[in-house]
Amino acid sequence: MAPTPVADLFPWDNSYARLPHRFFARVTPVPVAAPRLIRLNETLAAQLGLDPAALATPAGLEILSGNRVPPNSEPLAMAYAGHQFGNFVPQLGDGRAILLGELITVDGQRRDLQLKGAGRTPWSRGGDGRAALGPVLREYLLSEAMAALGIPTTRALAAVATGESVWRETPLPGAIFTRVASSHIRIGTFQYFAARRDLDAVRLLADHVIARHYPQCALAPNPYRALLDAVIRRQAELLAQWMLVGFIHGVMNTDNVSIAGETLDYGPCAFMDAHDPATVYSFIDSRGRYAFGNQPRIAHWNLTRLAETLVDLLASDETTALKEAEAALEAFAPHFESAYTAGLLRKLGLFQPQPDDRKLAQDLLDCMTRNHADYTLTFRRLCDAAAAPDQDQSLRSLFENPADLDPWLERWRHRLALEGPDHIARRDAMRSVNPHFIPRNHLVEEVIVAAVNNQDFQPFETLLTVLSAPHKDQPGFERYALPPQPDQIVRNTYCGT
Ligand code: AMP
Ligand code: MG
Repeated sequence: MAPTPVADLFPWDNSYARLPHRFFARVTPVPVAAPRLIRLNETLAAQLGLDPAALATPAGLEILSGNRVPPNSEPLAMAYAGHQFGNFVPQLGDGRAILLGELITVDGQRRDLQLKGAGRTPWSRGGDGRAALGPVLREYLLSEAMAALGIPTTRALAAVATGESVWRETPLPGAIFTRVASSHIRIGTFQYFAARRDLDAVRLLADHVIARHYPQCALAPNPYRALLDAVIRRQAELLAQWMLVGFIHGVMNTDNVSIAGETLDYGPCAFMDAHDPATVYSFIDSRGRYAFGNQPRIAHWNLTRLAETLVDLLASDETTALKEAEAALEAFAPHFESAYTAGLLRKLGLFQPQPDDRKLAQDLLDCMTRNHADYTLTFRRLCDAAAAPDQDQSLRSLFENPADLDPWLERWRHRLALEGPDHIARRDAMRSVNPHFIPRNHLVEEVIVAAVNNQDFQPFETLLTVLSAPHKDQPGFERYALPPQPDQIVRNTYCGT
């Protein structure tokens, strides 16, 4: 069958472009010299209702590189503000990302299609509007790994080499990333209008977000309070999921927080190897504001900034409105704690919760920190230890002082005995929540170096394939499950902007 003609490829329905002009700037992608398709996510394309074969043709590549704007796309850069490392910046906006438009997927979901690195916009400030290949591959890998782990996230539809260089202290190969999101609306989008005291715009934006992401809120007695509650709940659940897999976002600025509760803006993010709440990889986070263990607290701080933008909508008098906001924010901690605790217990094979279970889980985490034990492998090896105590050795070997783990193992076994006798079913249930493969920093660096220095994309493809089935054992790929050797440890990650 011949691929779909490009003109018919995208059934756009651009709801954001129908908002007032002050919400965005109309821009067109700046063409690039010599586009080449690095990777197309065919599965995702099909879910979006797009013909993968058509996207892979030269005409499809023209679109994915920004060299041609498809019919009925209404390309735009979104306006937003944000708190960056605690400081408010009233005007940020898409400086290098261009929204092509919105599509409705085969199962009726609305999705943004955005080109990241597609050229300058009115919000580029000093930037060149471009992206380097390394960070594009990084976002591709990390976001698809998160999706495979079942964690809400933006997705990677394509990566295209531009054939041009971008200057980042040295010349680097340029690339464009096609990102799919349920929307690119951020806490910072609300802040942009609130900072301008543009209450009409805040209300329009809130109505748009309710219709698009939280339709049930429209039926509530106070729809804006219901919206705030719903966003807080989704953030709490998202944060619990990050914490359960050891994900560190790295730049939890309010402009990088999706209103829809998806993981958004993969910059210097990383998965933790050895467990330590103080872990920071991001080079720009010298004070550890966004350290692993701080993330729930920061999410609450960010949600407080969102609540401030909505105060005028919450009630007609300020005292009542502030009380509404406070009550909504107070729900964050219990939502987070219950999602996180439930997840931790599942990771430990405890499916019938008991009062002391949270303490048992915490004691393991503390023991891991003391012994620099690998977070992911500890939980993965616990799955086998749950089925067969003779598997303890490989688990204990992850701890600097294995004897430090023994009293905990004994307590855990006593506790497991209350769960019932089916060891194998328990092991399998544990495996389904304790991934074997995460995008470890040293592996991500390795594939980026091969691609950037040697134009070798095979390591990228292999890693992507391994990460697509994180809970399977995958014989022959054991090395991808291992923590870094001392000389492979990556200490810093960079934004790469
Ligand atoms: P980020 O750190 O990627 O979340 O970006 C923060 C802000 O800087 C956003 O407004 C981006 O659009 C903008 N930005 C980042 N990189 C570039 C670039 N190369 N050119 C223009 N704007 C950029
Ligand atoms: Mg950002």
